[in-house]
Amino acid sequence: MPLTLDRDAYLRGLVRDVPDFPKPGIVFKDITPLLGNPRALHTILDAMHVAWVDRRIDTVVAIESRGFIFGAALAARLNAAFVPVRKPGKLPWKTDRVSYALEYGEGHLEMHVGSLATGARVLVVDDLLATGGTAAAAAALASSQGGEVIGYAFVIELAFLAGRQKLAGEVSSLLVYR
Ligand code: AMP
Repeated sequence: MPLTLDRDAYLRGLVRDVPDFPKPGIVFKDITPLLGNPRALHTILDAMHVAWVDRRIDTVVAIESRGFIFGAALAARLNAAFVPVRKPGKLPWKTDRVSYALEYGEGHLEMHVGSLATGARVLVVDDLLATGGTAAAAAALASSQGGEVIGYAFVIELAFLAGRQKLAGEVSSLLVYR
C-alpha cells in the first residue's frame, strides 16, 4: 500500500459486503479481511485510541462477539478495565440482564454483577452500529451498575439506520456508510 493512500479508502477496501447474510435483505459487513491484515488492525486501533485517550475512560464495556476483538485491544491501550457483555447463558457468574427490542421480538444481554465501580467512566465498544439497539442496551446495563457512559466507539456505522439517535453521549466511528 502506498503511504499516500487515504486511510478511509484503504480500510473500506478491506470490508467485505456479503449480501443476504444472515438473512435475505441484510448486507453483512464482514470484517475478517480487516482482521487478517495487521496494518489495518493497527490503523483501526490507533484511530480508536486517539479518539478516546483524553477522555479518562476507566472501563471498556464491549459487546459479544466482534466487539470483544476491538474492545479488549482498545482497553489495553487506554489502560482501562475490560468488561464483556454477552448473550444470555454465556457468563459463568451471577449476571444483570437487559432486554431490548429487535426487528422481530426481543434480545437480551448480560453482564456480571458488580462489574463496574460506582462512577466508572465507561466506553461502550462494538464493531458496528446499525439501529443502535444493542449499544443502547449495553449502556443501560452499565448505567444500572452505576457506571457513567461517556461514549461509544465503533469501527463501522451504518448511518442510514440512524442508530446514533438512540445513543446519549459521544459517538466515534471510523467508517461511515451513508
Ligand atoms: P444494532 O443493534 O441494530 O445497532 O446492531 C448492531 C449489532 O448487530 C452489532 O453487534 C453488529 O455486529 C451486528 N450487525 C448489525 N447489522 C450488521 C451488518 N449489516 N453487518 C454486520 N454486523 C451487523
